[in-house]
Amino acid sequence: RQRLYQNLVNRHRIIKLIRDFLSDNNFIEIETPILTKSTPEGARDYVVPSRLEAGKFYALPQSPQQYKQLLMVSGIERYFQIARCFRDEDTRGDRQPEFTQLDLEMDFPTQNDILQLIENLFKELIIKIYPDKRIKEFPFPRISYQEAMERYNSDRPDLREENDKGEKDPNELAFAFVVDFPLFEWKKEEKRWGAVHHPFTRPKLESGETISQTIERIKKDPGIPLADQYDCVLNGNEVGGGSLRISEPKLLEAIFEILGHQSEEISAKFGHLLKAFSYGVPPHGGIELGLDRIIMILQNEPSIREVIAFPKTGDGRDLMMEAPSTIDSKQLKELHLKTFNS
Ligand code: ASP
Repeated sequence: RQRLYQNLVNRHRIIKLIRDFLSDNNFIEIETPILTKSTPEGARDYVVPSRLEAGKFYALPQSPQQYKQLLMVSGIERYFQIARCFRDEDTRGDRQPEFTQLDLEMDFPTQNDILQLIENLFKELIIKIYPDKRIKEFPFPRISYQEAMERYNSDRPDLREENDKGEKDPNELAFAFVVDFPLFEWKKEEKRWGAVHHPFTRPKLESGETISQTIERIKKDPGIPLADQYDCVLNGNEVGGGSLRISEPKLLEAIFEILGHQSEEISAKFGHLLKAFSYGVPPHGGIELGLDRIIMILQNEPSIREVIAFPKTGDGRDLMMEAPSTIDSKQLKELHLKTFNS
């Protein structure tokens, strides 16, 4: 149908514009593996059994987070990728088991460098592809997490204006950055601290403080420190998020400890990153933008399913292909697997 056709055409145009814009800004596009090891981004992993190593599994990336940080260590100065991400969460209108991010990372950035880049990207995108739409405020307002919670009781406030009838103008785009998030949140059920963004996020340092002093301060009361973390909000939707990263191995290890990881577990899960950092790592930071959600809003669609070719149902099924499906016993055997029905 014409409407869905137009969604796919504009999706293509948006992604092409992003590629051109970032290439012009000296970013290079690099593909990172899909078969990988779990990166903790707070969701459940999709796993793929290994045929060659019985009982071992790959995980599909929840995002290319660790890979892009390793690229920074290797000397890539500006990376981006139109990246497919996988999270085994309960699906909703604006979630799918697999979704597409614009993922980027740069070395020696300030928070302002990253936010300005994103602002300018959106400005060009709206001017060139959605000339009928209007960005409400440019540069985008920056609101602290605390202010957002106090004023709007939400960390993704909808800043659009309502007309006399209480309607929001479909062509108004109210962008904002929410900044200064807390570093940790208390996970009641698990009775432990969790990272608000992810464990690689940099705590805000106090001036003149050494890294050992920072670690001491954070350990004393993990609920207090703020993070160099920012979210991008559009019309009441979270459409992106990122942070400056920890580049000191000692600080990163301390964060893993606060998150409840034992030291053997830290080296098993994150040894590769800590080792890479020990060779010398530039300060770095980045952001992701949720492309499906952004395209949904720009196309005035109610669900990301309308802007994805072959989307899955709310319960994660592909009805046309009939996935997920069973596999035959030969395949199971090769993968060293037994299921309850096999
Ligand atoms: N990997 C993060 C995410 O998917 C984004 C980032 O911190 O750059 O939310």
